[in-house]
Amino acid sequence: KRPLLMIPGPVEFESDVLAAMATPAHSHVSAEFIEVFGQALEDLRTVFAAPDGTPFVIPGSGTCAMELAVANLVEPGDRAVLTETGYFSWRMRDLLERHGAVVDMVHAPAGSAPSVEAVEAALRKGAKLLAVTHVDTSTGVLAPLAEYAAAAHRHGALVLADGVCSVGGQELRMQDWGVDVVLTGSQKALAVPAGLALVMARPAALQAFHARRAPVGSYYADWGLWLPVMEAYLERKAAYFGTPAVNNVFALGTSLRQILAEGMEARWQRHARLSRAFKAGAAALGLEQIPAEAYQAVTLTTLYYPQGKDASGLKAVTEAGVTLAGGLYPDLKARYFRVGHMGTARIGDLLTTLAAIEAAYDLPRGAGVAAAQQAW
Ligand code: PMP
Repeated sequence: KRPLLMIPGPVEFESDVLAAMATPAHSHVSAEFIEVFGQALEDLRTVFAAPDGTPFVIPGSGTCAMELAVANLVEPGDRAVLTETGYFSWRMRDLLERHGAVVDMVHAPAGSAPSVEAVEAALRKGAKLLAVTHVDTSTGVLAPLAEYAAAAHRHGALVLADGVCSVGGQELRMQDWGVDVVLTGSQKALAVPAGLALVMARPAALQAFHARRAPVGSYYADWGLWLPVMEAYLERKAAYFGTPAVNNVFALGTSLRQILAEGMEARWQRHARLSRAFKAGAAALGLEQIPAEAYQAVTLTTLYYPQGKDASGLKAVTEAGVTLAGGLYPDLKARYFRVGHMGTARIGDLLTTLAAIEAAYDLPRGAGVAAAQQAW
């Protein structure tokens, strides 16, 4: 039997979503596909909490979505403030610099995010853009995005958030918080197979794009080429620039219908509850988290190995039936592991995971499971 996949993406899929991947071949201009794609684009506005947003869905991974956001907002010489949270904030720096931005990274040690005051001090020097990794999957750090966004608007900067490890699982209210662009990939909290790059752009971001002096430095990621396509499908018409990932879009459509049937408020709350239960279970086993309490994400949990143990125990966890992920933050890499519980995770999956960790790492049997049940 295949082990339960509990890594921070890709996640386990609902069977209806997998079945949608097996939809017989459709033309990307067929009536059926036009309806599914158009509805999915509309539904994304609800998922991102951005009623005034323009959605982009193109074939690609999360990194492609990062480029689809950055390439259109940054021109050579633009100043960008970036909050350091770990591995994925460094990737954001690489992308910003690749597109010509002068990046002012506000540093923070592993397991935390920069203070709002430090970010505001950097913004005071003038910047076109504030870029934030909402949840950094390398450390499990949740950044205070709403507070950062408020600071950015006090200084006239656009706000761009990498929501790859948050959208659909971690509370994110784009319009209420004043976040201008959010990006994600399909394989995380949206619980769709990898292959779709998703970006939501609110009016100020589109305005900045239309006011560009320099052409977009990426052909594939140019909003100017994709915008007419997205607008057409929203109006239930076909248009072509690059072939959509047709079957991934069928799967996205199915998953979004399930997500909206639950509702975003209920989904955010359920994930927060699941996260609290898992973290309580880990604490009862004496496992310490990487982030301090103020920065703990809901979508995943990052834990130091028990005293004297290391990554070799993860193999026994897999043998017990659960696949987990190792560390990703350079200096700490060998000292911690990561558990993803976004998307389709249920309380039973978390209890199974805790039981597998107890068995593999020789921890008090049942202690984590009991504490998690209690918290749940
Ligand atoms: N940003 C974050 C926060 C991520 O977690 C990831 C993937 N783990 C990425 C960007 C890159 O996404 P992908 O691997 O799909 O290119």
